[in-house]
Amino acid sequence: MIPAAFEYSRPRTEDEAFALLQKHGSDARVLAGGQSLIPAMRFRLARPAALVDINAIAALDYVRTDGALVIGALARDAAIERAPWINDRRWGLLRDVSRVVADPVVRQMATVVGSLCHNDPAGDWTTAALAARAEVVVRGKAGPRTVPIDDFLVDSFTTAVQEGEMAVAVRFPLADDRTAGSYQKVERKVGDFATAAAATEVTLGADGRIARAGVALSAAGPCAVRVPEAEKALVGQKPSADLIRAAADAASRASSPQADLRGSVDFKKHLAGVLVARGLRQAFARLGVQS
Ligand SMILES: Cc1cc2nc3c(=O)[nH]c(=O)nc-3n(C[C@H](O)[C@H](O)[C@H](O)COP(=O)(O)OP(=O)(O)OC[C@H]3O[C@@H](n4cnc5c(N)ncnc54)[C@H](O)[C@@H]3O)c2cc1C
Repeated sequence: MIPAAFEYSRPRTEDEAFALLQKHGSDARVLAGGQSLIPAMRFRLARPAALVDINAIAALDYVRTDGALVIGALARDAAIERAPWINDRRWGLLRDVSRVVADPVVRQMATVVGSLCHNDPAGDWTTAALAARAEVVVRGKAGPRTVPIDDFLVDSFTTAVQEGEMAVAVRFPLADDRTAGSYQKVERKVGDFATAAAATEVTLGADGRIARAGVALSAAGPCAVRVPEAEKALVGQKPSADLIRAAADAASRASSPQADLRGSVDFKKHLAGVLVARGLRQAFARLGVQS
């Protein structure tokens, strides 16, 4: 199908883009990688009257370290996948995700921030961002504000970005060498959304006990789901097979998937537990710890 008519602008600076978004208000949508928005417009599931294309704003295309790993709104999935630092054990979670989102062609265009803003229930970056406790920088009328990912992801395809605003970056906390994570995804074929997926990240204290844990699921609710019961079960404990089983069981119970062509509710709940267990085992292995 052909999209409904819309006004198109291609600003060169963030200020210009923001001014256009303010001018058009609820009629406007940001166009980033276009991998979700363009298909939605073609099916007329989205009919924005104005598109603000941010692809010419070179200043938003960056990945840098600034008290956190900061990924600008125009950084493509492929830039993360190919970054030399991604092979550092500490970034295992992001490395795993960057290799399984969609397919290599989509990843050339799709942006990490666009994926967070799209907030698909089966999204991969949203789930990883929850486990890693990322924050999104949103530019609003009163200036930029930093929104914890738990508050940013409001509901399916809905985020804390309000009318006239745009997300300008996502900040992932800098991982130290006692931190490791993993992303485990089951998909029917390469390029498919998750049947189920789990993001896990753990930080070990000097005493070998788990000081911090992040556990989140994809395709297990209206949007990415944190599993606080699993996180609480892990913190303060030493890695062990029993502990992993307890966290996996908590994840399976917390998973609330929809039955669809990818599988039944029972199958997906079972998978959630299996993938959390696999993820935790891999995270501990990356830390060189037996579990
Ligand atoms: C074949 C195919 C397979 C896919 N498989 C997967 C998959 O397995 N896992 C997965 O997670 N995703 C998958 N995707 C989705 C892909 O990752 C999307 O591209 C991504 O979700 C959106 O990123 P984008 O940069 O393309 O955003 P766009 O399509 O440009 O925008 C998406 C939405 O976010 C808004 N938006 C974008 N950037 C901003 C911003 N800076 N500020 C405010 N709003 C903004 C737009 O207005 C729009 O509403 C797939 C897509 C395709 C086409």
